[in-house]
Amino acid sequence: MEHLAELDKKHFIHPTSSIQQQQANGPKVIMEKGEGIYLTDINGSEYMDAMSSLWNVNIGHGQDELAEAAAEQMKQLAFSSAFSTFSHEPAIRLAEKIASIAPDGLNAVFFTSGGSESNDSAIKLTRHYWRIQDQPERRKIIGLKRAYHGVAAASTSATGIKEFQEMAGEMMTGFVHTETPYEKTADEAIHDLRQTIETEGPDTVAAVMAEPIQGAGGVLIPPDDYLRQVRALCDEYGILFIADEVITGFGRTGKMFGVENFSITPDLMTFAKGVTSGYLPLGGVIVSDHVHEMLKEKSKGTLFHGFTYSGHPTAAAVGLKNIEIIERDGLVENAREMGGQMLRAFEKVQSELDIVGDVRAKGLLGAVELVQDPATNKRFSPDQQAAPKVIDQLHERGMICRPVSFEGTDIICFAPPLIINREQVHTMVEKLHDAVFAVQKELQ
Ligand code: PLP
Repeated sequence: MEHLAELDKKHFIHPTSSIQQQQANGPKVIMEKGEGIYLTDINGSEYMDAMSSLWNVNIGHGQDELAEAAAEQMKQLAFSSAFSTFSHEPAIRLAEKIASIAPDGLNAVFFTSGGSESNDSAIKLTRHYWRIQDQPERRKIIGLKRAYHGVAAASTSATGIKEFQEMAGEMMTGFVHTETPYEKTADEAIHDLRQTIETEGPDTVAAVMAEPIQGAGGVLIPPDDYLRQVRALCDEYGILFIADEVITGFGRTGKMFGVENFSITPDLMTFAKGVTSGYLPLGGVIVSDHVHEMLKEKSKGTLFHGFTYSGHPTAAAVGLKNIEIIERDGLVENAREMGGQMLRAFEKVQSELDIVGDVRAKGLLGAVELVQDPATNKRFSPDQQAAPKVIDQLHERGMICRPVSFEGTDIICFAPPLIINREQVHTMVEKLHDAVFAVQKELQ
C-alpha cells in the first residue's frame, strides 16, 4: 500500500481531484475488486458503491458476461477503423440496438469514447446542420446554469458550473446560460429562456442543450412540464434541442432514457456511461430522422469529424451485451421499484433528522439536501462543510456517495447500480441516516 501510494503521488495526475490533497495525503483509497454493488480496496475494506462509481456502472461490478463478450470480440477483431465507411458487425448491431430502444424518430448513431466527446460531437453536428442549410450564423448553444456536460472544449463551454469554466480561462465563443428550474420555478426558467433567445437573436441560436435531470448539478429533477415547454419554445423558434442522457440513459431513472419521464423527443440525444456500464469507454450521439435526412441530403463530401475509437468493435460488443443484460434482467423496472423504495426511505430520514431539507429521486437517481433549517431552507455556510463531512462519515461506514457543494448547496447524490435489492437499499439509507445524524450533532 505504502509503495503504491508513493508511486501514485509521483506519477498519477488524477482527474477532478485536488493535486495538493493528493500530495499531502496520498490517494484516498486504492481499489482492487468489484462485485455487485460493492468495491473492495487493497486493505480488504468493503464499500457499498452508492454512486455506481461515476453514475455509470449500471449493471454492477464483476459481471463475467461482459468480460467474456470483450475477450471474444478482442480475439476475433479487437479493433478496426470506422473511418471512410469501413464498417464491422459490432458497431452496426449496436447502432441498430440503440435505435430500437431510443424514443421513436431517433434512429442513427454517431459513436464516441465518452460523454464529453459526445456532447462536443452533438454541438459540432448541430452547427454543421445549420451550415449545410446556409445558416452559419446559427451557432449559439444555450445551456442551463448548474449543467454539467463534460470537460472537452465545447462541453466545458456548455457546462454551467463556473469552477469547470474557470480552470483553463476563456471558453469557446457562442455559449450562453439560462436559469434552471431549481431555485427558480419552471415558469421563471422558461421566461428566462425565451428572453435569452430573444436577446441573443433567434436566428443566431443553433440549439438548446440540457440534461433531462441535472446530475452533477445536484440531481435536479425539473417539474413535469418544464422540458415540454423547452421543447415547445425550440419548436416555436425553429431551434434544435439536444438532450444529454449521459447519466440518465440506459435505465437510470426507471425508464430506458430520461426524456421518457417527460414525454418529449429531442433532436439529438447524447449518451455514454451506462451504455457499457463503464466496462469499456464508449459514448455517442443519436440523431433524429429529420437531422439524419438533412445530413444525407446536404452534407457534401467527407464529414470532417471522427474519433479513432468511434465505433470501437470491442466496446460495441460490450455495449450490446450490457444492453442485453439490462433488458433480460428487468433492470429498468428494478430501478423504478427500488427507486421508489429509496425515495420513501429518504423521506423517513427527512422526518427523523433536523438538517435534512429536500429529498428527491427519479428511479435510482436521487439526492438528499442538507440545510441548517428545513422550515426556512436556510443553508449551511460553505466553511461548515456539511456535505463533505457526511461523505467522510459515509466513507468510514463503508459507503461511497458524492457531494455537490458549490454555490452554497449541500447535496448528497445517490445513483446505486440498477441491480440493487430491497435489503441493500435499506442498508444504504440506514448508513445515510447514521452519517447525517453524526454530522448534525457536530454542527448544531
Ligand atoms: N454529461 C453528463 C450529464 C455527465 O454527467 C458527464 C460526466 O459525468 C458528462 C457529460 C461527461 O462525460 P465523460 O466524463 O464520459 O466525458
